Amino acid sequence: MHSHPHYSKEAIRELCRANPLLDELMALSPVSWFNPERQPTEQALAAVGLTAEDVIDASLRLDRFAPYFCAAFPDTMASHGLLESPLQAVPAMQQAMENRFQQPLGGQLWLKLDSQLPISGSIKARGGIYEVLQHAEKLALKAGLLQRTDNYARLHSEEFRAFFSQYQIAVGSTGNLGLSIGMIGARLGFNTSVHMSADARQWKKDLLRAQGVTVVEYQSDYSVAVAEGRAQAEQNPNCHFVDDENSVQLFLGYAVAGERLKAQLDQQGIKVDRSHPLFVYLPCGVGGGPGGVAFGLKLAFGDAVHCIFAEPTHSPCMLLGVYTGLHDQISVQDLGIDNITAADGLAVGRASGFVGRTMAPMLDGFYTLSDKEMLSLLGLLNEQEHIQLEPSALAGMPGPWRVLENESYLKRMGLNPERLANAHHLVWATGGGMVPAAEMASYLTQAAALAKPAAI
Ligand SMILES: *Cc1c(COP(=O)(O)O)cnc(C)c1O
Repeated sequence: MHSHPHYSKEAIRELCRANPLLDELMALSPVSWFNPERQPTEQALAAVGLTAEDVIDASLRLDRFAPYFCAAFPDTMASHGLLESPLQAVPAMQQAMENRFQQPLGGQLWLKLDSQLPISGSIKARGGIYEVLQHAEKLALKAGLLQRTDNYARLHSEEFRAFFSQYQIAVGSTGNLGLSIGMIGARLGFNTSVHMSADARQWKKDLLRAQGVTVVEYQSDYSVAVAEGRAQAEQNPNCHFVDDENSVQLFLGYAVAGERLKAQLDQQGIKVDRSHPLFVYLPCGVGGGPGGVAFGLKLAFGDAVHCIFAEPTHSPCMLLGVYTGLHDQISVQDLGIDNITAADGLAVGRASGFVGRTMAPMLDGFYTLSDKEMLSLLGLLNEQEHIQLEPSALAGMPGPWRVLENESYLKRMGLNPERLANAHHLVWATGGGMVPAAEMASYLTQAAALAKPAAI
């Protein structure tokens, strides 16, 4: 088990004196912070222990598995067995947001609809599924049951399910990662256990149990569910623990999104370069998803892409870790912040140290927003574009306006009005595709109540 430092009241007071933004974080006010230590991409990439080749290797692995997906998950046939999501311009939402903030955007607003990713309806289908495939392939190759040149549709068979049933996969999750790992793990035949934090939705647990996944429930938050899962897995040499806080495989699976997005933008005739910057707004929980995607984006677009992470005011773990430089050595609870949010997947109190340390020099900024704002934007998007997402997936939506209001950041980055007029702003819509209708109706009712003028 990892142990973390304990902070006295005096130590926290000292930290706040040295880092003035912490007072606002503790007051749960929405904040924006742009990273003064962002480095040129080439320099920042050189310091990462991972390279473009690692991401290409991951991409080729996903290609090898495409025939498996076509066989085992027929709804992936339309995309030839690749799990990828649509990129969509949202002009009506852009107009509504311009009105909301009384500020024209200049460039164009896009949504990357990971909510429509097959199998789990969230960004977790990228990293989580990839790590299970990587593990399955390694086991099958080692046992001499599979060659890299085989048609991997073979894996969708009783023979392989019997083979994989000798092995366990475990993961700790607030919901969506468990859903992804559980769905693919169980389909391949693994004995799969998902350790769920208290905030995980009932429907996700029900769905997993229906697939034969063992769901272990905890009364505490994400970090505890992960630690318990890790501890149980460590006692079993045949058990692979998907470590959301530290996994390189997970990170590489997410990173493949960079080249995929580049191809989609090319297809739409969208240019990205110094004169046509691309801003990407990514909701952040523990950091693996947005961190891995940002790594892939940096490989694909270099300095022309600006990555900004969004977190709930009640769970600003990555902002806290990067801003103070303490990374995983501090949690939001250390500051007395409760880590309670309606945004599934973002309720994380302590960020991944691996992601924070690796990615900080490549990230432009971080901001927080309230649950109310996510819900209200959920309603607005439904109204304007008839797109239905879960609350977390809206975290990136106000990002472009946070950027536009920060003149010192724009100046420092040389983002003049001409460049901004050519910019593309992409909000990563990380989930919501599998939310049951009744749950979605409840989100929309809550959003409508927020839209009404407050009762006197
Ligand atoms: C998990 C998740 C995120 C954030 O990913 P992390 O790897 O935890 O940072 C964002 N949105 C949704 C819907 C998620 O499920």
